[in-house]
Amino acid sequence: MSTKICPHCGAEIDSEAARCYNCKNWLEEISTNTNDKPQEFIPTLLFAYFWGIFGIHRFYTGSIGIGVAQLLTFGGCGIWAYADFIMICFNKFKDAQGRNLRNFDQNIGVVAFVLSLIPLVIILFLITTVVGLLAVAK
Ligand SMILES: [Zn+2]
Repeated sequence: MSTKICPHCGAEIDSEAARCYNCKNWLEEISTNTNDKPQEFIPTLLFAYFWGIFGIHRFYTGSIGIGVAQLLTFGGCGIWAYADFIMICFNKFKDAQGRNLRNFDQNIGVVAFVLSLIPLVIILFLITTVVGLLAVAK
């Protein structure tokens, strides 16, 4: 018979016991439900990057209300969705229960963030080039 220690009184009790025989306290439910865990980091990151303007990463992590709001606003014209993406990259993103994502990898987060900047840099470069050419043309 395997045993465990009661967290309330320290008595040694049957590991299957739901209630401590000594102090009569109920023992915390050990969750075996795999659905009761935060979602994984990488899928959430990919959802936020590719379908962030539809709020898919929010649906995926259980925040249905925010997901609908992002779906209706195209992720706050992309700004809200991109802010979420940055939060995911740096492990600041919380799921519907306020938990961090599972299996966060800092290296992947930083790389994803840097890669996401490339299109922004190209757009800024094109804008400044066009503005510069217009200024020269005058
Ligand atoms: Zn006890």
